[in-house]
Amino acid sequence: MIDLHTHSIYSDGTNTPAELIKLAEKRDLKAMALTDHDTVGGIVPLLEAAKDASVEAVPGIELSAECERGTMHILGYFVDHTCEVLLDKINTVREGRDERNQEILKKLNKLGYRLLWSDVADLAGGDVVGRPHFAEALVRNKLVKSRKAAFELLLAKGRPAYAERYRYTARECIDLIHQAGGVSVLAHPATIYLPEDQLRGVVKGLAARGLDGIEVYYAEQRPENITRFKSWADEMGLIATGGTDFHGKNTPDLRLGIGFGKLRVPDEALDQIKERVRQKQGA
Ligand code: AMP
Ligand code: ZN
Ligand code: FE
Ligand code: FE
Repeated sequence: MIDLHTHSIYSDGTNTPAELIKLAEKRDLKAMALTDHDTVGGIVPLLEAAKDASVEAVPGIELSAECERGTMHILGYFVDHTCEVLLDKINTVREGRDERNQEILKKLNKLGYRLLWSDVADLAGGDVVGRPHFAEALVRNKLVKSRKAAFELLLAKGRPAYAERYRYTARECIDLIHQAGGVSVLAHPATIYLPEDQLRGVVKGLAARGLDGIEVYYAEQRPENITRFKSWADEMGLIATGGTDFHGKNTPDLRLGIGFGKLRVPDEALDQIKERVRQKQGA
């Protein structure tokens, strides 16, 4: 059993990379990838913690791409966390986040929610402050009932405290991951809100542009989507990967490795990712 999609305190998860490794060992996982949003800050501690562990640690990242309808995320596996181009470009993204976060704070204050920047920033353990931290801060200050309500009422796209932030296009994300020596995978394709034929066209376009894989096995994915995305993967020559998108206490019902209980990511997904890395290095 493997889990190729997790978050730590370096982005919006609540566990340290070392805690994730411990948890993965407890669940008897063969391998676990750390895929924090817009940062590789957790990779060194991850690899350090996995040195004597029974679980193999896979260095990764999750980048947000421009997307008109819904959310598009691109995962990168085996990216070189010291690659200057990668570090420089994700730094630009994080600067965009900082500006966006101040905008969200202003909007919340204007709407009458009394929140300080420190309330939000104190919840973030690492490099990246995002909307989940705002949601948590709103709950802790008893301004909304739940994190879910915070998104639905205020923070989700189209809601009154939402603010845009700088993103690269999907193609730029794919190129960047390749430049850093990694393998690129379209995460949770169902969060792109397009009719099926259009979504299929988008995936096909990205595959033609060098996308390596698609996240077929995903905790929140409906069974019919698993079947559909697996057939797209086979047809387009994409690696069928998967993971839970574990965020610790920020995803309380979800368990590392098995999601809501039934998720099983085939071990061969990781073998194929590694094969693709070797091919790229040889090329
Ligand atoms: P950010 O990268 O700061 O825009 O935050 C994005 C993160 O917020 C996602 O990875 C999710 O964890 C969370 N998120 C986004 N939309 C929602 C939603 N409607 N309900 C709950 N969590 C959400
Ligand atoms: Zn997240
Ligand atoms: Fe994501
Ligand atoms: Fe994620």
